[in-house]
Amino acid sequence: MIGAGVAGASTAMQLAWRGCSVIVLERDMLGSGSTGRAAGLLGQLRSTRAATKMLMDGVQIVRELEQRTGTEIFVQTGSLRVAADESRAVEVRDHVAMGKSIDFPIELIDREQVAQMLPYMKTDDLVAACYCPTDGHLQPGELLAAYVHLARQAGAEFCTQSPVDEVLVDAGRAKGVRTGDAEYHAPVIVNSTGPWSADLAQRSTTRLPTAAIGHYYLTTLPLPDVNVDRHSPAIRDRGLRIYSRPEAGGLIVGMYGADPPLYDMQALGVDFDMSQMQVGRADVNVATLIDAAGRRFPFIDGRTPMNITTGIMTFTPDGKPFCGRLPDIDGLYHCAGFCGHGIVQSPAIGKIMAELIVDGATTYDIAEIEADRMYEMAELTDRAAVRRLCAEMAGNYYGAIASTDTAE
Ligand SMILES: Cc1cc2nc3c(=O)[nH]c(=O)nc-3n(C[C@H](O)[C@H](O)[C@H](O)COP(=O)(O)OP(=O)(O)OC[C@H]3O[C@@H](n4cnc5c(N)ncnc54)[C@H](O)[C@@H]3O)c2cc1C
Repeated sequence: MIGAGVAGASTAMQLAWRGCSVIVLERDMLGSGSTGRAAGLLGQLRSTRAATKMLMDGVQIVRELEQRTGTEIFVQTGSLRVAADESRAVEVRDHVAMGKSIDFPIELIDREQVAQMLPYMKTDDLVAACYCPTDGHLQPGELLAAYVHLARQAGAEFCTQSPVDEVLVDAGRAKGVRTGDAEYHAPVIVNSTGPWSADLAQRSTTRLPTAAIGHYYLTTLPLPDVNVDRHSPAIRDRGLRIYSRPEAGGLIVGMYGADPPLYDMQALGVDFDMSQMQVGRADVNVATLIDAAGRRFPFIDGRTPMNITTGIMTFTPDGKPFCGRLPDIDGLYHCAGFCGHGIVQSPAIGKIMAELIVDGATTYDIAEIEADRMYEMAELTDRAAVRRLCAEMAGNYYGAIASTDTAE
């Protein structure tokens, strides 16, 4: 395995549970990529049944991890989607219909019910809302720690400060990796390097159409006159492009902005440390975030005591990850491109990857996340085109109205 974020660690745990001999090579520290920056929302509702079912299973896997480790990881708060115009209201209603069709717990609720749940939120403009009682959040570091602990318990080894330079390929078959002067040999290699996944693929004579995109959220400090309960529901307001959840008496509010920055991971260099990324309130993305947050949560403005977190996500041209093999190199699997939802996807993704690797097939419907679905697209051989398409997808992630697969 290459990379010890949630994707690599979850896969390592599932492989070790299946009796595989697993070694995870991590360039820096465990969770030092996107995982260490994530806000930790666990929303299960997606626009397709397959994706929603996968995330419903994921919550059950997290519950299993809690039992196995004896620690509480998941905070079940429920979540709300709110709409302030008719096109967003249609989106909410479509999602409710899709959710109900697969027995996902979800209900349309009215404005008064929303106001009761979240007295500090502006609700007088809402035209539709739905409530998902089984959603919640967690601390990504705690989820990662559980994966690593259970993987180690089952025999997996994690090596930090071990950057992989390239996957060694012989006659179309992966046979190991090179890290500096050392070589590790293995019949199966997994590229779970998050925002670095396209670069690692390129250095290993293949290509993966992912790109690294910046993301921001704020965390307000507790305020005497705003009572944010630990179990207040999370919010998604796609019209304003924001999401929110309670955090330590304050509120996290993040934004999928229209024009997020693109990063070149190679240019950031080998010493790049995502945990050191900083940004101030004067940054245009942060100013836009604070403005949007204040429109839904009127107690937030430029003077509110808050911390700003920024990090880098991995986007793909269609907003879905790449999981599995490409036709060009046997034995090399990819598990990357989670587009802002890698924490919530990781429990089921680890299981899917382990099934693919050990059984050659998975019990999940993975048509929309198969690694080879864009392999034949000639335009994606051009890195500049990939970066542009990924940036467009990121800019529209909340901006576009999501259509659901409601038809039976
Ligand atoms: C600000 C922010 C907020 C987010 N909020 C949420 C959220 O609320 N909910 C949610 O589900 N998701 C969220 N995400 C997305 C989530 O963090 C990611 O989707 C997820 O962490 C991806 O995990 P990963 O394992 O694929 O990648 P990463 O966590 O980036 O892990 C990849 C690892 O590979 C290592 N690596 C890279 N190159 C090499 C190499 N050559 N050799 C060895 N190791 C290497 C890196 O150091 C890194 O540790 C957020 C992301 C950001 C940035």
